[in-house]
Amino acid sequence: MRILIVEDDLELNRQLEEACLEAGYVVDKAYDGEEGHFLGDTEPYDAVILDIGLPVMDGITVLENWRKAERKMPVLMLTARDRWSDKVSGIDAGADDYLAKPFHIEEMLARLRALIRRSNGHASSELVCGDIVLDTRTSKVTYKDKPVKLTSHELRLLSYLLHHPGEIISRTELTEHLYDQDFDKDSNTIEVFVGRLRKKLNTDFVETVRGLGYRLQESE
Ligand code: CA
Repeated sequence: MRILIVEDDLELNRQLEEACLEAGYVVDKAYDGEEGHFLGDTEPYDAVILDIGLPVMDGITVLENWRKAERKMPVLMLTARDRWSDKVSGIDAGADDYLAKPFHIEEMLARLRALIRRSNGHASSELVCGDIVLDTRTSKVTYKDKPVKLTSHELRLLSYLLHHPGEIISRTELTEHLYDQDFDKDSNTIEVFVGRLRKKLNTDFVETVRGLGYRLQESE
């Protein structure tokens, strides 16, 4: 899952990044509205954390422009104070949730998880495929109720697949959502990670669709 953080407060931006990385997300950062708007307009994100008070272009305008351009990724808006008018403008502009500063990082992460789940049509915090279960709160994976140790790359890949069961996902889409913008994107590495996941999870839960990509079996 790839997250965009748009926050001009350097310290807060750093804290958000640290928390998101620790939670296993891939992170891109912007420090003003113009830069943030550009990234959100051109790169695929699974969720965005967007501050309302930003230099160059304010958060509301950034969000309005994305929505006008049919950019539908879930957006968690950060409001500077507990001002009801900020919340109303944010929701009118198309924010999916908001958080008033100061907030606890844990609450931000919980809201982010819920946004990503809901945008993919999942109500529960556990994602299940056959005998594989991923608890999105703890990032713990079990296979037939036994814990499975995954590297952060493997975990990101599994998480992305579990969020999109039954869909054909191309290698390009996977590389775009599993790596940040600076990563040297080589889609062959995806094949290697899928192979490792199949081995660790001891099952052919993910199908290779020749020439198109991968598809996760849908749970009955
Ligand atoms: Ca700000």
